[in-house]
Amino acid sequence: MNRARTIAVDGPAGSGKSTIGKLIADTYGYTFLDTGALYRAITLAAIRHHVCPGDAEALAELARETRVCIEPPDQGEKVWYHVRLDGEDVTSQIRSPEVDRHVSEVSSHPSVRAVLLERQREIARSGPSVLVGRDIGTVVLPDADLKLFLTATVEERARRRYRDMARAGKDVSFEWVLEDVERRDEADRNKGEYSLRVAEDAVVVDTTGRTPEQIVAELRPWIVGE
Ligand code: C5P
Repeated sequence: MNRARTIAVDGPAGSGKSTIGKLIADTYGYTFLDTGALYRAITLAAIRHHVCPGDAEALAELARETRVCIEPPDQGEKVWYHVRLDGEDVTSQIRSPEVDRHVSEVSSHPSVRAVLLERQREIARSGPSVLVGRDIGTVVLPDADLKLFLTATVEERARRRYRDMARAGKDVSFEWVLEDVERRDEADRNKGEYSLRVAEDAVVVDTTGRTPEQIVAELRPWIVGE
């Protein structure tokens, strides 16, 4: 078995996809792409341009016209990547409660997804990469060398989100975060062919109560192909 060149990491909100995807990328030298950041950036653009989250056509046009770049941080910076929207750094703004509220609906439109699909594949083609999202192993990279599907209980996922948001200074209650996670789970289950589902050939990992380091150590044989 050869070393995996493309790694797809899927799972519901708060399942540990980004933490584990980033740790794999840093440990084994992959480019890391959190595809949720692309959907969040388009959602932020829609809010700013007063485009209704239900208007598929207008959103697809906005997605085509908007330049979203994901860039690596400088050495020593705390963030995992920078997100630029037409040149402006919006790394923190894409995590606002308002973006959280609308991102599921914006990302539910096949026309919006079609625009972002090509961008995701371009990045995967450019070199060894870990792509993190909801439909990476099923739609974006059906031929990925390694597919991971992460799960965790809804309470644990909400606790992780709440902790991250509190650390980032966001003023939200645990109840709000739990409801938001449940609402997004429901929306992710109802996206037709893009719904969150486990690829047939995915390795399913329950991350509840385990550290990212333990999980990545366990996945080593799949990553390096031993
Ligand atoms: O991963 P994150 O929670 O940042 O993603 C934000 C939202 O973007 C998700 O709730 C999901 O609705 C959507 N998304 C998606 N497909 C992806 C990544 C994210 O539909 N590949």
